[in-house]
Amino acid sequence: MVKFGVIGVGYLGRHHTRILRDLSDVKLLGIFDINRKRGEKISREFSIPIYDSSDSLIEDADALVIATPTVTHYKIAKKALLMGKHTFVEKPITYDLKEADELVDLRKKMGVILQTGHVERFNPAFLAVKDMIKEPLFVEAHRLTPPNKRSNDVSVVLDLMVHDLDLVFLYIKEPIVYISAAGIPVVNDSIDLANVRLEFASGAIANITASRIYKGMMRKIRFYQRYAYISIDLFEKKAEVYTRKNENGIPEIIKKIINPANEEPLKLELRSFVDAILGRREPAITPEEATHTLKIAHTILEKIEERGIPGENR
Ligand code: NAD
Repeated sequence: MVKFGVIGVGYLGRHHTRILRDLSDVKLLGIFDINRKRGEKISREFSIPIYDSSDSLIEDADALVIATPTVTHYKIAKKALLMGKHTFVEKPITYDLKEADELVDLRKKMGVILQTGHVERFNPAFLAVKDMIKEPLFVEAHRLTPPNKRSNDVSVVLDLMVHDLDLVFLYIKEPIVYISAAGIPVVNDSIDLANVRLEFASGAIANITASRIYKGMMRKIRFYQRYAYISIDLFEKKAEVYTRKNENGIPEIIKKIINPANEEPLKLELRSFVDAILGRREPAITPEEATHTLKIAHTILEKIEERGIPGENR
């Protein structure tokens, strides 16, 4: 039985609490939130004890989920790792790159599991087709959401685009040779809409758009490769695969629609974290991978800054 604590029980921390409460091999000891009222609400809703400080919860637990705003991840995760606790930190791993490197080193020193919430890897639509994606030549992603009061402490690149960067880097591990990026603030002071084109050493390209200024929800990623096109709707949790068959010299396009079982990605993600703690599997996402994604996200932000806000000098 792994004793868990959840630190930060806002929008996502509430879901972590709900799932961990009923997950096998887990005993959810308690929760902590700097906003006492919020903590009490979640404590009542799920009948889980509320702690008076994150320190006391870290001390009692074997493993922590950190679902606080991004800028606070480092400080809390560092404390948990230093106390030898397995740590699940929401995405992105930290705000700052140096902070992420420090957590990677600390994890190695302490010999515990450090996993980051790149939850799309557990999306059933992605899981259903992930083995069909091989050496993509072109990837296109759109992740669009309505304006939101949460996560505006960071730009849309660190908030949303990191999910698609993580999926791209799973398949294209070559060096990036060229980055062109543009972004604009719309309702916040930070970048709300961003587009990036990444060109890799082999010539493969990823074109990713992320926006938190949209009327609905869209999370689509499409992988194009030799003789196959794989389109994943991560929001609707379904996928389409088009492959080219060439029998007797006659090319034919075969379409396959995939409707996987509607499993909850966050639950699968927490299950994988618990199984890694129990030595049943390797951690699904290494902190090095999460740090690489953060590094490229910051490079994209630098490129956006270099270009400047379009029309600023009008
Ligand atoms: P939120 O604002 O709803 O919740 C954050 C909570 O943390 C609040 O209740 C706040 O009071 C609390 N908090 C702030 N500082 C704290 C501290 N020092 N100690 C304890 N509690 C503290 O935000 P959210 O949308 O739940 O996002 C939280 C994190 O989860 C962010 O890093 C975000 O990027 C990530 N997130 C990930 C996904 C995903 O798909 N994986 C989705 C949403 C959010």
